[in-house]
Amino acid sequence: MDDRTFTADAEPGDRVTVAGWVHEVRDLGGIAFLILRDKSGKIQVKFEKDEMDDDLVETGLGVHRESVIAVTGAVEEEERAPTGVEMLPESVDVLNEADAELPLDPSGKVDADLSTRLDNRTLDLRKDEVKAIFEIRAEILRAVRDYFRSIGSTEINTPKIVATGTEGGTELFPITYFGEEAFMNQSPQLFKQLMVGSGLERVFEVGPIFRAEEHNTPRHLNEATMIDFESAFIDHEGAMDVCEGTLKAAYEAVEENCAEELELLGYDDFATPEGDFPRLTYEEAIERINATGELDTQLVYGDDLSTEAERALGDDVGGHYFITDWPSEIKPFYIQDYDDDPETSKGFDLMHPRMELVSGGQREHRYDALVEGFRQQGLDPDQFDYYTKMFKYGMPPHSGWAYGVERLVMTMLDLENIREAVLFPRDRQRLSP
Ligand code: ATP
Ligand code: MG
Repeated sequence: MDDRTFTADAEPGDRVTVAGWVHEVRDLGGIAFLILRDKSGKIQVKFEKDEMDDDLVETGLGVHRESVIAVTGAVEEEERAPTGVEMLPESVDVLNEADAELPLDPSGKVDADLSTRLDNRTLDLRKDEVKAIFEIRAEILRAVRDYFRSIGSTEINTPKIVATGTEGGTELFPITYFGEEAFMNQSPQLFKQLMVGSGLERVFEVGPIFRAEEHNTPRHLNEATMIDFESAFIDHEGAMDVCEGTLKAAYEAVEENCAEELELLGYDDFATPEGDFPRLTYEEAIERINATGELDTQLVYGDDLSTEAERALGDDVGGHYFITDWPSEIKPFYIQDYDDDPETSKGFDLMHPRMELVSGGQREHRYDALVEGFRQQGLDPDQFDYYTKMFKYGMPPHSGWAYGVERLVMTMLDLENIREAVLFPRDRQRLSP
């Protein structure tokens, strides 16, 4: 198979071997067509029954759909073929025959529900429009990594097995670690902060996070992929600039490099968001939400924003926007408060009109204030000694944020359910595949 040619590269006049899956067989009597599909596209293979060897015709036309085959033959121009060329087979090798009954139809003629699709992800990803989501996801991650490098940020990897959680105890998955209780990490928050005080200064990580979310929702997973960023010597405004830059870099890359995938997904008006994203304070946000009249009860200062509230504001703003200056008590303890207004934090969220994409902020880098924050959150600072003690040895002012990759893909491509944006989702019902 070393000399295998992709179907997209098969030119009239060539003699090639192509390999892939039997997409379809159409028997018209004296002549029949087999459509072979590979990563690059499809090619029509023509069988002229009277003129070709019987064994060859039988092998080519008798094989079940979705079997893996290799076909060797001449490529010719053929206007009526879907790609303008067709192959005249000299030999057909069946490399692995598929069962006659398939749990899912990769040609997409028969619809399958999401659960069947997720149970049979291999077959599901033979569909061009499903494959396109994951090509785009990969392009987003490539663009994000390039962007981080362009601003001097170093990629890191931090432990996923940890002794303690940070984002609230109920969402932790406990595991047994050599007879002791440990947890799957909910966020690289503390580790990435420790790195801004190291020689690295500015870091990012793309990695899994684990959260025992109470409910199944269309935008929560129990294992998600997070893009985390943290930098020394920038404040929350600077962190928002990087956040906005990352998002635009991701959109631009998809716009530039994924035209084919976007078309498969039905986009003809995909556009990178333009202009500076509005930065609304939390107070402005709740006033605007109340003014929409969309909610049954008016929000008051200190309320967290419900899904309905996020939607109402998203519709009103009509594009990406930030919410800044959150009340300290509804943001985590590691976010810094304004010196002249300790009730207000330097935390922010980046919102897509449909949902939250990012949370971030300037962090508390002063030891005493940090330890006090742990206490106020009901956490025992001694348990986090490995973290807090580093704040005694020269921790610079710093800020950062975290994106959910699946939410970025989901909102960019207008997917209904976050599970569409992950190969093998983990939710309350789903632990395999
Ligand atoms: P939400 O309130 O929407 O549940 P959160 O505020 O608890 O999210 P953060 O701790 O702020 O989440 O995490 C940062 C980002 O990571 C979120 O803005 C979101 O994009 C993503 N994220 C968090 N939890 C999940 C999850 N369970 N599934 C998918 N993505 C998630
Ligand atoms: Mg958040």
